[in-house]
Amino acid sequence: MQADSIVLGAGIVGVSIALHLQMRGLSTVLVDRRGAGEETSYGNAGLIQREGVMPHAFPQGLADLLRYGVNDRTDMHYHLAALPRIAPFLARYWWHSRPENYRKVVTAYAPLIAAAVTEHAPLIEKAGADDLIVRQGWYLLFREEQERDEAFRKAERLERDFGINHDVVRNDEIRRKEPGLGIDVAGALHWADPWSIRDPGGLVKRYLALFESLGGTFVNADAMALQQRSSGAGWQLPVASGVIEAKDAVVALGPWAGDLTDRLGYSLPLAVKRGYHMHYAQPAANPLTSWVLDSKYGYLLTPMVRGVRLTTGAEFALRDAPSTPVQVDRDEPWARELFPGLGTRVDAEPWKGARPITPDMMPIIGPAPKHKGLWFAIGHAHHGMTLGPATGRLIAEMVTGDTPFIDPAAFSATRFM
Ligand SMILES: Cc1cc2nc3c(=O)[nH]c(=O)nc-3n(C[C@H](O)[C@H](O)[C@H](O)COP(=O)(O)OP(=O)(O)OC[C@H]3O[C@@H](n4cnc5c(N)ncnc54)[C@H](O)[C@@H]3O)c2cc1C
Repeated sequence: MQADSIVLGAGIVGVSIALHLQMRGLSTVLVDRRGAGEETSYGNAGLIQREGVMPHAFPQGLADLLRYGVNDRTDMHYHLAALPRIAPFLARYWWHSRPENYRKVVTAYAPLIAAAVTEHAPLIEKAGADDLIVRQGWYLLFREEQERDEAFRKAERLERDFGINHDVVRNDEIRRKEPGLGIDVAGALHWADPWSIRDPGGLVKRYLALFESLGGTFVNADAMALQQRSSGAGWQLPVASGVIEAKDAVVALGPWAGDLTDRLGYSLPLAVKRGYHMHYAQPAANPLTSWVLDSKYGYLLTPMVRGVRLTTGAEFALRDAPSTPVQVDRDEPWARELFPGLGTRVDAEPWKGARPITPDMMPIIGPAPKHKGLWFAIGHAHHGMTLGPATGRLIAEMVTGDTPFIDPAAFSATRFM
């Protein structure tokens, strides 16, 4: 089968790229070993984080490092046995998080995150996915005044420097909005710009349906079988019905991308921050209607189609190590205190996913430096659901030779080579 481009991986990133390529008239084959949006892009918290201009940095101070080292926290957990393998990555992550380096990351990241909502919006409309979207921002709830005041000061700076809107919300206001809250809080920060998705995997499938309606092809196959053609011009991939040949191939394999980039001779610093979710039945009276993050304990409660989804913070572990959902168990009592109507667990066991991360907290988006016609769209970390469509547009513009809507230089793989 002849195509213009092959996209490997049908998470939010790969589906958005395939859709943008197809919309520009390139015949595109999208490949996954499973259905679309059934891995990391299924289980996340569904936030389109327009406010996420400051990516999650590695703790800097000794006191913080010692606190996390004890490994009894809710917001972060690690596997001791994984440390020898991931320590070099963590050292680089720590270095990029130092204030002088972090400032550069924030500046480079800002134009990409600014396109979060504006790039989802036309795709949501074309895909007829409005029923999955809530346009009311999200709430950061504070149990303590000190952390509230620090967060308010930071929000002022983000408003001034990046035009990100927020509201200061008092306890009585948040309780009117969410009458199911069980405790008085010290206040809340309402990030006004983000949108949220009531079924992230469902949105990816709607984008896939739009891609197919435009003539795109989705096939099940193993992306690891990708080969450069012997002439050096173009790429080929064996699938059940034959071999797909295309001029361009895009790697969008989320946490599995490193398996292929290693095989192709790249040694990119990629790791994962694992995360878990559990659904709970919504109460009949006063159901949760907002996306709320418990600032002290670092979990999110989100009103999804399937029930209230609790998503956990980060777990540093090897990608394929057995599941250790201790954070769900640690978060649950705090979530029940915050929202006593939370019903019984809906899932038989906690879902596990892996955020694909790079040490400088920014994705790799652009050409593969050593191969013609090969492109990378990987490492979207905490913001893959947010940035899928913006990444899709950027890759499609680079593939077609159009002027990219933002300067992609900061996202090049060459920064790690
Ligand atoms: C708990 C949690 C909460 C999160 N909350 C948010 C949030 O609120 N907002 C946000 O923006 N982001 C959030 N994220 C991050 C976000 O989910 C990810 O960044 C994003 O889903 C990554 O998308 P992706 O397309 O790169 O990867 P994936 O969705 O994992 O897609 C990769 C695809 O590659 C396929 N694949 C892998 N290997 C092969 C192979 N050999 N052959 C064929 N196919 C293969 C997989 O089947 C999969 O479909 C969260 C993540 C977690 C874990």
